[in-house]
Amino acid sequence: MIENVLVLGSGSAGLIAAISLKRKIPRLSVRVVRSKEIGVIGVGEGTTVAFPKYFFEYLGISQRLFYEKAEPTWKLGIRFLWGPRDHFDYTFSNQLDSRWRDLSFPNGYYCEKEFRCTDIPAALMAHDKAFARQPNGTGPIMEPWFGFHIENKKLVEVLEFVACQLGVEIIEGKVSGAERGPEGIAAVQLEDGRRLEADLFIDSSGFRSELLGRVLEEPYISYDRSLFCDRAVVGGWERTDEPILPYTVAETMNAGWSWQIEHEHHVNRGYVYASQSISDDEACAEFLSKNPKAPSSPRVVKFRSGRYQRNWVDNVVAVGNAAGFVEPLEATSLMIVCMECQTLVDQLLHCSFVATPSMRRLFNQMVSGLWDDVRDFLALHYYANTRLDTPFWRHCRADTDISGIEQLLEFYRENGPSGFGRYILRGTENTFGIEGYLVMLVGNRVPYRKQVVSETETRLWNSRRADFAMQAKAGMDVKEALGIIRDPRWSWHGER
Ligand SMILES: Cc1cc2nc3c(=O)[nH]c(=O)nc-3n(C[C@H](O)[C@H](O)[C@H](O)COP(=O)(O)OP(=O)(O)OC[C@H]3O[C@@H](n4cnc5c(N)ncnc54)[C@H](O)[C@@H]3O)c2cc1C
Repeated sequence: MIENVLVLGSGSAGLIAAISLKRKIPRLSVRVVRSKEIGVIGVGEGTTVAFPKYFFEYLGISQRLFYEKAEPTWKLGIRFLWGPRDHFDYTFSNQLDSRWRDLSFPNGYYCEKEFRCTDIPAALMAHDKAFARQPNGTGPIMEPWFGFHIENKKLVEVLEFVACQLGVEIIEGKVSGAERGPEGIAAVQLEDGRRLEADLFIDSSGFRSELLGRVLEEPYISYDRSLFCDRAVVGGWERTDEPILPYTVAETMNAGWSWQIEHEHHVNRGYVYASQSISDDEACAEFLSKNPKAPSSPRVVKFRSGRYQRNWVDNVVAVGNAAGFVEPLEATSLMIVCMECQTLVDQLLHCSFVATPSMRRLFNQMVSGLWDDVRDFLALHYYANTRLDTPFWRHCRADTDISGIEQLLEFYRENGPSGFGRYILRGTENTFGIEGYLVMLVGNRVPYRKQVVSETETRLWNSRRADFAMQAKAGMDVKEALGIIRDPRWSWHGER
C-alpha cells in the first residue's frame, strides 16, 4: 500500500509530480529531496496547449497566482522557417483537419500556394496578435488555444510555492546512493548520512536519472536513428524595442535549427545541432552571426534523445528528463511530464494504491507510446525540410528513420491532406493528432497526387482567409494583453 512518496529532484518535473500527487490524493505523504548545489537545468521555456489545461483545469491552480508569479507570455504556436515557403505557422487549433461544409475538400487541399490565416488563431499569429478583442473592445477573448513561454527558474519558483502550500515537505540534501529492498528501492542515502525511506520513489533528478538509470540500470532506448541532434547552444538577451511575439520561432540552421522564445523582458535563443556535423565553435559562430545581441560565449548543453525502456520499474517512477528526452522542437517535455503525472495519479487511484504488475506494464506501454509519438513527429520535421542543402540536411532527408510513420506518408502521397490519415496513427490518442502531421506535410509542400480544386472554391476559401485576417488585425498584442490582465479590475473567471 503506497502511503509515503519521495520525489527526488525539484525541477519542474519533480514539483509537478509532487503537486499532482498531493493535490489529487491528499492522504499521501509527499516529500521532495533536492540538492541546491546541483540545481535545476535552467532551460525549457515553451509549452504546448496541454500545459495550461493541466495546471488550471486538472490541478486547479489559481490563474491569478500563476500569472503573477511565473510571468508567462502566450504562445499561439510555432512559426517554422522551414521548407520551401518563407514560413508556415503551426497553431494549436485545427487549421487543416477541418472542412467548411460548402467546400468539397478539407482545408489542407486549398493551402498549396498560400498557407496563412486559415482560421482565427493562424490569422492572429500572422499579425503578431495574441488574442481577438471582446466585442466591447476592451479585454482579450481567451480561447483555450494557447500555450506559454515561461522562464524555467520562475516556473520552478511558482511550483515550489504551490507545493509548499499543499503541504509537500521539501528537504535539502544530495542523494549519494540507494538501498535496495524487496519492492525495488527501500531508501535513499544522503551525503550527510541521512536515510529517507518511502513506498514510492519519483525519480525526477534530470539527466542524472539517479534511481531509474543509475541504481536500477534500466536500459536506455536511443532515438539516434531518427533524431541526429545532440547539443544546444543557449543564449539570450534583455529585450529592448523588439515586439513580444505570440509564438515560438523555429528556424532552419546549417546543422540543425534555432529557437526564439519570447519572455516579457528577455529574448531567449538557442541552436540545437548535431555534433557529428558541426563543432561547438562552428555552432557558436553560426549562432552569434544570426544573433549579435547574444552573449559572446553562449552556454553549450549536451543531451541524448531517447527514453528508458520502462519509466516505472518496481517502486520507482521516472518523470521529466530522468525518464527520457527529446529536443525542444515542439516543446513537448512539460507536456509529457503532465500526461505522465495524470496517468500515474489515475492508476494509483484505480489500483487502490497497490501497484500491480499489470498496472505498471500498462503505464509503461502508455508512456512509451507518448515518447515514440514525439520521436516520429519530430523525425518528420527533419525528413521533410528541403530549405537548406547542407550535408546535415541532406543526411536528414536521406537517412532519418521514419519507419513509425511510413504508412501515413504513403497515404498522404496518394491521397493528399485528408483527415482519414488519423486512423493510421499509432493509437487514437496520438499527441499531435493528424493535424500536426498535416501541418508539417502541407507546410513543407511534401508532394501528393493533386486533386482538382475549382477556381470558385479557391475564391471562397480566400475570402474566408481575408475575413479571418481582418478580425485578427483588430486583435491585441502580448504587451497590451499583459497590461489588461494585470489591471486589478481583471477577473479570472470570477477569481480576482
Ligand atoms: C536545450 C533545452 C531546451 C529545452 N526546451 C524545452 C521547452 O521549450 N519546453 C519543454 O517543455 N521542455 C524543454 N526542455 C526540457 C526541460 O528541461 C524539462 O522539461 C524540464 O525543465 C524538466 O526538467 P527536470 O525537472 O526533469 O530536470 P532538472 O531541472 O534538471 O531538475 C533535476 C532536479 O534533480 C535534483 N537532483 C539531481 N540529482 C540529485 C541528487 N543526487 N541529489 C539531490 N537532488 C538531485 C536537482 O537538484 C534538480 O532539483 C529543454 C531542455 C533542453 C536541454
